[in-house]
Amino acid sequence: MRVLIVAKTRMGSGACIGGITQNGESIRLISADMDAHDGAGLEYEIGDVWEIETTSAPYITPPHVEDIIVHRKRRLPSFRNPIAIIERFMPPVVGSPVELFEGLTQSTAKGSLYVAESGGIPPYSTTFWRADQPLVLDTTSKRIRYRYSTEDGGRTLTYVGFQEPIQTIPAGTLLRVSLAHRWRPDDGSVTEYRCYAQLSGWFLEADDDRELEQFMGHASPPSELDAPPQDDLPPLDDFATPLHLLQTVFGYDEFRPLQEESINNILERRNTLIVMPTGSGKSLCYQLPALLFDGLTVVVSPLISLMQDQVMQLQQLSVSAVSLNSTLTHEEYVSIIHRISSGAVKLLYIAPETLLRPETLLMLGRRQMDCLVIDEAHCISEWGHDFRPEYHQLVQVRERFPDAVCVALTATATPRVRTDIRQILGFRNENEFIGSFDRPNLFIAVKPKVDIHQQIFDFLATRCNQSGIIYCATRRQVDDLQEILVTNDIPALPYHAGLDSEVRQQNQTAFSRDDVRIMVATIAFGMGIDKPDVRFVVHAYLPKNIECYYQEIGRAGRDGFRADCLLLFSYGDVDTIQHFIQQGAVSEQAGRRERLTTLVDWATAADCRRIGLLGYFGEEYGADNCQMCDNCLIEADELVDLTVPAQQFLSCVFRTGQRFGVNHIIQVLRGSRARRVLALQHNELSTYDIGREYSTEQWRSLAHQFIQQHLLTRDIEHGSVQLTQNGWAVLRGEQQVWGNPVNTQVHRQIDTGETTESDRPTTVLSPRTQEIGERFQSGESVAELMQDYDVNRETIMRYLGRYVQAGNPLPVEQLHDESTLSPENRERVLEIFDELGPDRLRPIFEALNEEICYEELHLIRAIYWSIRNSDS
Ligand code: ADP
Ligand code: ZN
Repeated sequence: MRVLIVAKTRMGSGACIGGITQNGESIRLISADMDAHDGAGLEYEIGDVWEIETTSAPYITPPHVEDIIVHRKRRLPSFRNPIAIIERFMPPVVGSPVELFEGLTQSTAKGSLYVAESGGIPPYSTTFWRADQPLVLDTTSKRIRYRYSTEDGGRTLTYVGFQEPIQTIPAGTLLRVSLAHRWRPDDGSVTEYRCYAQLSGWFLEADDDRELEQFMGHASPPSELDAPPQDDLPPLDDFATPLHLLQTVFGYDEFRPLQEESINNILERRNTLIVMPTGSGKSLCYQLPALLFDGLTVVVSPLISLMQDQVMQLQQLSVSAVSLNSTLTHEEYVSIIHRISSGAVKLLYIAPETLLRPETLLMLGRRQMDCLVIDEAHCISEWGHDFRPEYHQLVQVRERFPDAVCVALTATATPRVRTDIRQILGFRNENEFIGSFDRPNLFIAVKPKVDIHQQIFDFLATRCNQSGIIYCATRRQVDDLQEILVTNDIPALPYHAGLDSEVRQQNQTAFSRDDVRIMVATIAFGMGIDKPDVRFVVHAYLPKNIECYYQEIGRAGRDGFRADCLLLFSYGDVDTIQHFIQQGAVSEQAGRRERLTTLVDWATAADCRRIGLLGYFGEEYGADNCQMCDNCLIEADELVDLTVPAQQFLSCVFRTGQRFGVNHIIQVLRGSRARRVLALQHNELSTYDIGREYSTEQWRSLAHQFIQQHLLTRDIEHGSVQLTQNGWAVLRGEQQVWGNPVNTQVHRQIDTGETTESDRPTTVLSPRTQEIGERFQSGESVAELMQDYDVNRETIMRYLGRYVQAGNPLPVEQLHDESTLSPENRERVLEIFDELGPDRLRPIFEALNEEICYEELHLIRAIYWSIRNSDS
């Protein structure tokens, strides 16, 4: 059996030796001649590991229930600092003395702590403790005591350790407390046996090796005596191999890809760059080595909430971690500094600006720093999407602590950013660990944004009980969209930086607990959320770049099951971002514009989405077709011939001088009388008014495909489109264009003799809306539709509403028949619609004193639109 010596008490001429076995049991070592306080025990040193052959003691003397008799023993290499092992195997009690020994401690009138047999003997006579207050040397009696102050005069522990007593033991120091021999007052004042609790030492990380030696006593040479032959012994791995720590401290069975490799690299003190996607387990790559290093691991992280999460998680695993950042009160700051200085801390999470403060650097200079971790390391590169100037100064911090091995981590790094990180930090190429960025369970789709609300409703209609995030670009968009969803009876909560932190916290909690399924959010939402079953991420607006996009969709499907990612793409959004780039710092414009262009190219490409994304991160995808993106699933036989509209569009681009954007071209094609069209005399071109066959939205969807197929290129700065060689070939009739069919609603209307007026935009309806509308029109009842589509009444009303709103006819009488309101009430609601407009239901609901339910309002609105359609 292997034992780590963790305690050694002064007692008469000898010492009482306490240890922890590799099975996590507390034992007291007794020499073969049964003397628990044998002076021979002096050869044991704290931190020593011994291989011993033992038997249990023939009889047990409480409180020493864990006595073990040592027959043969051999010293193995020592740990200089056994705190991590103690923390793991015998996690300390944190708090007041009351909690010691499983809460069994009591105190005498004078304050001495004891455990009484009548109250039950704890199954061990040793425990560890981190007191929440300092312990102060008490010299009032002839024995050395330490006092923990309380309102009723304090609690005292007799000190029996081998260390030189110090005046004050700081709060939070790891202390060893043990039970002394049994005792009962002679005077018979109490009848039960008692054992005093005594302080048998503390664990400070010494400031330098000299102090450390003083603390540990001088290490004696390995004892040859009693030693069995060397090779009979298994290697000294059991206590502290990375795998063992992974299982015992972190509770995982096995390493994930690259974790073990990078951990070993770090333990060999090679500077290491780790590039792995979010959620793949990067943190463990430095947290685990931190437990094996004697000194401190400092983790630089720019995100305070993330830091706090990590610290909390580590504390739950009994790993001593703290964070220093600008949110702490002065008292908190001082107390944390104390804990760091006392050596009680393994991991310090720190914001870069806090780290760079001179007093922090001085404080750290007095400690041994073994590892410097730079989280979100892409912030160091000006080519990264999140450059932070203070990150550059971390280079100086490294120079100041040359002995600390440096670990840089990031989830989002292109080959260029990676090279940058390596160069700035002076890392060697071979110490780079790049995980696969592929998330095979994410279905990735990009659709032209033609009608944001309808598209989102349609998307959500098939995902009723699923959790998902809808990302918007601005706070305003979040608020608006969230309100529209709620008004349409789709529960959703908002999340953005404009809400106060309490509301944000509440909303996040509601989402993670499934109280609400949909979160409408800006990029402020997501950092640190660890919800495994996010089933979809919709981008209602374009993200800034591929890094952001990838990070955001990365929040879906963490449980490994399929999750859907839908990006609604529009060139309007591209222009908005472009506008913001122009408003921003000149020095950053080139980089940001390049990243935007790359995103647009990707979103408008017809190739496999996955291959494009992974390629961006420098990774080659193993197949031509991923089967999990929209482009890969398009079947050749679904494609239709788009040569004619393509020629019309391309010709109009050419005739207007290749200087205009998609919207202007569409206006010309559809014969718009917009002032700009007339002023430019574009109404005199041969392509004017030749394209009414398609609605504006349909033309947008077509234009998107033409760009996707490289018939046109779009200038990112001005939004103008130009013909490519392919475009010319189409225009000259040398090449055909095949693409996705655009919705045929307009053709149908033309067939039935109806036309769409040019000033009222037609909406491209989803197939389901179309189908439900047509079935209702042909006489099927709402009840029948509800049953067939397995949706509630209000959902059917919503579909019908969209159907008529888009200009389709619905039998008004039949709609009236579906209503549960009296004819007078219906009239009253219709008047309110007239007064307030039909676009938003909430004001109507409120104007009617909240007396009429939304289901009914949807229905009356459909009636309202039907009437309006037939009027016009
Ligand atoms: P990252 O920093 O790469 O975004 P985290 O370090 O936060 O990822 O890890 C993501 C999740 O995976 C966490 O819940 C973490 O506890 C868990 N995890 C890490 N390593 C393992 C492992 N070897 N086995 C199982 N789960 C792991
Ligand atoms: Zn694909």
